[in-house]
Amino acid sequence: MSTTNENRLNEPTKRDIVVQMLSERGVELHEIADLTLFLQKPYVPELTFEICLDHIERVVMKREVQNAILTGLELDIMAEKGHLDEPLRSMLMNDYGLYGIDEVLALAIVNVYGSIGFTNFGYVDKLKPGVIKRIDEEGKAPDKCNTFLDDIVGAIAAAAASSIAHRYAK
Ligand code: MG
Repeated sequence: MSTTNENRLNEPTKRDIVVQMLSERGVELHEIADLTLFLQKPYVPELTFEICLDHIERVVMKREVQNAILTGLELDIMAEKGHLDEPLRSMLMNDYGLYGIDEVLALAIVNVYGSIGFTNFGYVDKLKPGVIKRIDEEGKAPDKCNTFLDDIVGAIAAAAASSIAHRYAK
């Protein structure tokens, strides 16, 4: 009982930390909501931006999601600061294509919403719409590392799209 209450009290704090972290890395929740709207609008015609933002908020309240965001963004930041040893540092700074752990970590986010989350995530990863494209481009600067950020943002959008699909499926 006390543990449950404690968790409820802690949740908003950790939500605020990860939202702030995303913002410091250049991504706001409304941009992720735009991605979700793009993903799910064809299947739910009555879908609005506000509903998408509401589902993004639900996603960032989940512990697994928060932990994935904390871990991935920290690795990007440490790579930029030169706090990682080789060969990991170069792999992250150059967004080495066969590294693959950025996508694996992001799967922890979509995993929360079942198989439909995987499909949505694969689609975003392939298409790189909107903010994902911008993150990728910005990550190409020599002193910048967005290796985990693009997958995390895509996974949050995909997870929210899946949450909406479960809710509105007919
Ligand atoms: Mg990546």
